[in-house]
Amino acid sequence: MTGSAGTAHQVLLVDDDRTIQRLAEAFLKPLDVACEFAGCGAEAFEALARSVPDLILLDHELPGESGLQILERLKADPALAQIPVIYATGTTKETVISRCFEAGANDYIQKPLRRPELLARVRSVLERQRMIRELWSNARTDSLTGLPNRLLLQETLSRAIERTQQDLRYRFALLFLDFDRFKMINDSLGHEVGDLLLQQIAERLRANLRSEDAIVRDSQMTTLSRLGGDEFVILLGDIPDEAAASSVARRLLGVLNRPYSLAGHTVNSTASIGVVCSDRGYRTADEMLRDADIAMYEAKASGKGCHVVFDPSMHAAVMERHRIENDLRDAIGSSQIQLVYQPIFAIEDGLVVGMEALARWHHPELGLIPPDRFIPVAEETGLILPLGEQVLHAACEQFQQWRRQHPALNYVSVNVSRAQLEVPGFADLVADIVTKHGMAPQQLQLEVTESMIMSRPEAAVSLLETLKALGVRLAMDDFGTGYSSLSCLHCFPFDVIKIDRSFVQELNGERTEFVALVHAIVNLAYNLGMECVAEGIETREQVAVLLTVDCLYGQGYLLGRPVASGSTYPAAWHQPPASSDSSRLSA
Ligand code: C2E
Ligand code: CA
Ligand code: CA
Repeated sequence: MTGSAGTAHQVLLVDDDRTIQRLAEAFLKPLDVACEFAGCGAEAFEALARSVPDLILLDHELPGESGLQILERLKADPALAQIPVIYATGTTKETVISRCFEAGANDYIQKPLRRPELLARVRSVLERQRMIRELWSNARTDSLTGLPNRLLLQETLSRAIERTQQDLRYRFALLFLDFDRFKMINDSLGHEVGDLLLQQIAERLRANLRSEDAIVRDSQMTTLSRLGGDEFVILLGDIPDEAAASSVARRLLGVLNRPYSLAGHTVNSTASIGVVCSDRGYRTADEMLRDADIAMYEAKASGKGCHVVFDPSMHAAVMERHRIENDLRDAIGSSQIQLVYQPIFAIEDGLVVGMEALARWHHPELGLIPPDRFIPVAEETGLILPLGEQVLHAACEQFQQWRRQHPALNYVSVNVSRAQLEVPGFADLVADIVTKHGMAPQQLQLEVTESMIMSRPEAAVSLLETLKALGVRLAMDDFGTGYSSLSCLHCFPFDVIKIDRSFVQELNGERTEFVALVHAIVNLAYNLGMECVAEGIETREQVAVLLTVDCLYGQGYLLGRPVASGSTYPAAWHQPPASSDSSRLSA
């Protein structure tokens, strides 16, 4: 866009008559304009190469190139075509006047120049120009942060890509940044706090990129923009290689990970960044943005708070995810989603006391898909709600069938996700399902993971209390993986602690620290009136150690693998003599 940096407007007067130049300058005094002069076309283009004015006053009759020829040249050059031109001529010939408008003049003035007319025309063209510039800039600015928006980014990006095609040594990088807990902060603290957070993120990025070090060689081409939501994109102009772009990403992550102070709340979060470099031969802005976005997703998937450089193999993973997302919609409610049940045993006497329902997806083309691949997708898309309801119904129905023949079976256990727990009316749904299947509430156990609870402990307590009031059993799943301390266990109304497989795996005579730790967990749980279930038991040695620390319940491939609903009820597990072999089972 054209424009001078200062407040005064710049006007280029192209006229070969010195007196007229001076006269025009004097007439324009009240408008706060700075004039430059050119006596012919050549001089005019020299002046334009030095700086771009806000307005050109162009005479018709000039030595060499005529005014009309100069006008045509101006309009043919994309960098100059936007400058408004007022065409000045002494002739009243209609042909000249209409030709100057056809060639792109914004206005026309009759010579000899008269002060009031010149002032009025220049003022009106400048005013129109100011309005156009404002519209242009509004359309390209994000109103919340004042940063360039998607449109401006796309334009800048397209220009940068064009430049790589002309200058083979030129390369730049794109950083696609997404804040890891934005939605949660927005939902829990409100949109105003969310807006404040976005403004602070923008400010941190801006300050950091301003004090840019020597990595980026063309800081003029560097653009920080907000795409929308909590997505920001940084175009780093003229960067030597991916390693340099990565080091900028690392530096930005360091800056963004510091706590934010928002209207009295202190908020901690991290960001994920996808990095892509122009040397992959991109032809369009969209292609390059898409790959940066994919790399950002990869960064989120690999634990958040980090950056990942794009690699073409990531396309396959994204395609698979899309496929899963699309097909899952149809699979829910159909027989493609089935449950298997893993028995929970009383370790000492070997009886099955509970069954944990685990979802399986039998995809007609992709075959068996394990829950780790589709539950996260269901959670992100909200499909977990209908899916979770289907699982609850099926598990309760199966429980009632087994229960008739096996009175020792106390409960069926169902895994629930955070989104299910948080949906208003979830407790009512659970109550309805229990009633519909003619069960006592304590025959249904709901498992929630420790990490899910610890991401917002206060909110979790009240959600769990509501469920507890129904009388259902509550289990803390994967205990030991979610950073809760033993000291806060008493805050939650759990009936059961499920000790995560990663701890159970370490239980052998040599790892005394793990034995001591599990012992401490078991003791504390009993003191709080909770039961303990050890997950993932694979060896007899683990069983022996668990019995010495008084852990009464267990689950794992050694005791019983998950079984399909139609298959035979798992037999009781009988504790073998302590001396028997302790080889590991293959998983
Ligand atoms: P989880 O709740 O911790 O379930 C235990 C997982 O460990 C199951 O994997 C089970 O097959 C596996 N496992 C059990 N014993 C052993 C063992 O001795 N050794 C080894 N190596 N693994 C063992 P699965 O079925 O793949 O489930 C993975 C996770 O998916 C579950 O972890 C649970 O968090 C989630 N999930 C499964 N079904 C559902 C569901 O219906 N709803 C929700 N929200 N999540 C589900
Ligand atoms: Ca579980
Ligand atoms: Ca578990």
